Amino acid sequence: MDRSRGVPFVDLVAQHAELKDELTAVFHRALASASFIGGPMVQAFEEEFGRFCGTRYCIGVGSGTDAVLFALIAGGVRPGDVVITVPHTFIATTEAITHAGALPEFVDVDGSTCNLDPDRLREYLEERCTLDGSGRPVSRRSGRPVTAIVPIHIYGQPADMDPILDLAERFNLTVIEDACQAHGAEYFSRKTGTWRKAGSIGRAAAFSFYPGKNLGACGEAGAITTDDEEVAQAARMLRDHGQSRKYDHDIEGYNGRLDAIQAGLLSAKLTRLAGWTKARRERAKTYDELLRGARDIVPVIEPDWARGVYHLYVVRVQQRAEVIAELSGAGIATGIHYPIPLHLQRAYVSLDYAPGEFPSAERAAAEVLSLPMFPQLTAEQQERVVQALLRFTPAA
Ligand SMILES: *Cc1c(COP(=O)(O)O)cnc(C)c1O
Repeated sequence: MDRSRGVPFVDLVAQHAELKDELTAVFHRALASASFIGGPMVQAFEEEFGRFCGTRYCIGVGSGTDAVLFALIAGGVRPGDVVITVPHTFIATTEAITHAGALPEFVDVDGSTCNLDPDRLREYLEERCTLDGSGRPVSRRSGRPVTAIVPIHIYGQPADMDPILDLAERFNLTVIEDACQAHGAEYFSRKTGTWRKAGSIGRAAAFSFYPGKNLGACGEAGAITTDDEEVAQAARMLRDHGQSRKYDHDIEGYNGRLDAIQAGLLSAKLTRLAGWTKARRERAKTYDELLRGARDIVPVIEPDWARGVYHLYVVRVQQRAEVIAELSGAGIATGIHYPIPLHLQRAYVSLDYAPGEFPSAERAAAEVLSLPMFPQLTAEQQERVVQALLRFTPAA
């Protein structure tokens, strides 16, 4: 096997080489000012990222997980509430729900997009909840009030937000977008006839800047975006020990602040994000074309109303273990996002779900395969990935 002809899954070294001088300048600036937590670089990034998402407020926090947690609490989720999400996501989403004192309950995904299926959401709210005196849904499963929904924009593709928002309005639920994979993704609202950025659609949204995300720090970082001043204020307090002013603690909060060096690095990278997204979309299109007609290789679709940012390029395959072995033999790295749906994770045995309850999520977990995807991926590398795939499952 010739490893030098391998294809990595992501290539952060190549990304950082383009930006070396700008990134090192950030370290020097931070050292010179000795401002490491909060301060002007954090404020500048918050303004820039809020503008990028089209929201009035952006609150930098320590990670995407913190962002989901603080957005839920700031959005009014209280201990004992039920928060609806999907089983086909990273566990951080449900960890945040549980850490807010709430109980995650799942609805299934749409198999073609791997995102929350609005029909399953409607079914859950209409058939698996009763309404209390004030018209709030109460889960029959747990007997607890349902107060929020967390749709994930999985793989960088927006969830179908129009019907989700309609149901949320009808049932008086707060919508918190998990946009941790979707920096710059766009959703066309058929209701308003406009394209909207991920992170500007729900009451608030959570972003992760984990290094491998489309906009990634060189460490841990995250942000909350919102147009809601109350949510913004609450999130700002939560990230900083619940203080409204120094040593004036209105509530108990967290140590969940964004550090200045990460903010500065993110500002430098944000200037490149539109170009990187364009490159990702072009590479996705190339994969789509090269794989068209391939038997048993089905890319996750991008609906007309979505402009995804391809954090991951995901195909569905039947004999996944064999396909991975074939690619790995050719030095091609792949990933599985995610192999075990959350309702079947050992961590959630106590939620008491059984295999078969979310068939689309379970099938997705068994079939999804993420191919190498990053802005610097070359046409020749993509050819090699596709050749190895077609060797295993030749075109029909
Ligand atoms: C990355 C990710 C998170 C968590 O972000 P961290 O910054 O790693 O804490 C949450 N949800 C989804 C969907 C993610 O992909």
